[in-house]
Amino acid sequence: MFYQERNNVEDLKNQAFYRFLKRTYALHTIAFAALLYVVGGFSYIVWVLGVAGTLGYHGTFLVNSVCHIWGSHVWNTGDLSKNNWWVALLSFGEGWHNNHHAFEYSARHGLEWWQIDVGWYIIRFLEVVGLATNVKLPSKDHKLKMSFASLNKFE
Ligand SMILES: [Zn+2]
Repeated sequence: MFYQERNNVEDLKNQAFYRFLKRTYALHTIAFAALLYVVGGFSYIVWVLGVAGTLGYHGTFLVNSVCHIWGSHVWNTGDLSKNNWWVALLSFGEGWHNNHHAFEYSARHGLEWWQIDVGWYIIRFLEVVGLATNVKLPSKDHKLKMSFASLNKFE
């Protein structure tokens, strides 16, 4: 499977809401910029779209660079992905990157109670109030399969 094929998001492609977002995402940005301009003028566009957008992109790049070099490798993913606590704090949980590589479908990246994952807390809140459904988490069987302990299963 290659990431360009986008066959790892079939569940999203089947939902009209996400197809609508994909078709119209440029319009959302333009409408948001217009709203920012109306509310606060050009400086709001610079700070919210320019500065905050740049920080957001760099946060994503930070995860994909730092978390393939420094941190702990707790799951047998066969790659260089790492869990990095300080990146997780800066990126609202995305720094639990080895967890993400092991269970890419999981809404929760911080799988241990001490792995702070603000993104997961928001998703869990939305689930509790009924605004998020079909939230996916790794099963015990999948965790066992991805653990280093499972390497000895053929001995
Ligand atoms: Zn990665």
